[in-house]
Amino acid sequence: MIHILVVEDEQRVASLIKRGLEECGYNVSVAYDAEMGLRLFRASEFDLVISDVILPGKSGFDFCKDVRVQNSNVPIIMLTALGTTDDKLEGFDAGADDYMVKPFDLRELDGRIKVLLKRYTKEVHKDHSDVISYADLQINLKTKEVSRSGLMIKLTPKEFNLLVYMAENPERVLSRNEIAENVWNTHFDTGTNFIDVYINYLRKKIDKDFDHKLIHTKTGMGFILRYNHEDQNEINA
Ligand code: CA
Repeated sequence: MIHILVVEDEQRVASLIKRGLEECGYNVSVAYDAEMGLRLFRASEFDLVISDVILPGKSGFDFCKDVRVQNSNVPIIMLTALGTTDDKLEGFDAGADDYMVKPFDLRELDGRIKVLLKRYTKEVHKDHSDVISYADLQINLKTKEVSRSGLMIKLTPKEFNLLVYMAENPERVLSRNEIAENVWNTHFDTGTNFIDVYINYLRKKIDKDFDHKLIHTKTGMGFILRYNHEDQNEINA
């Protein structure tokens, strides 16, 4: 079931939208301000977000930006009583995908939702079925080919799986246990030196010949895949 988050401070309007969308077959959660909205957004999976512009406290535009930090793809529709071009532009700058001027017809809102969901599903599908890109790294999941800056890199199946996992979770520290569980499908009760060995294999192939290193050690914590623009001189031990 499609799960939609509605952020609207006017309770009457909020419950009208909720009821209308539920009649269209959606599962709807309502928040009455940006903070509550963000809390709900973090706590569960949403397929689409609808937010009023004028909210008590943080504005809908700021809420929109916060959501974009968490999720760069989820469709966002802004609602407002003002229909000026400036407002529209600010909404799009904040990362909104569409805009509805109040009062609106729920069928029209449903139409926009369907268009955005279709586009979103296609994008997510495309992202996950074919190629993972991070900085100059490209991984083709179908052909199992890996390249950096267009240069092909040969990996063993285990190295490939490890790199895919890191590239699917970039810019986040991955503990040895997490890597063990997700890449090797096992708990390493006896230690995780194994992971270090494979990380070193990967580094030799992925980073050694490139100025910008992608795989970094976080001492005592694990590893992180990150492209630092300023780390040309970093020694990657
Ligand atoms: Ca409002």
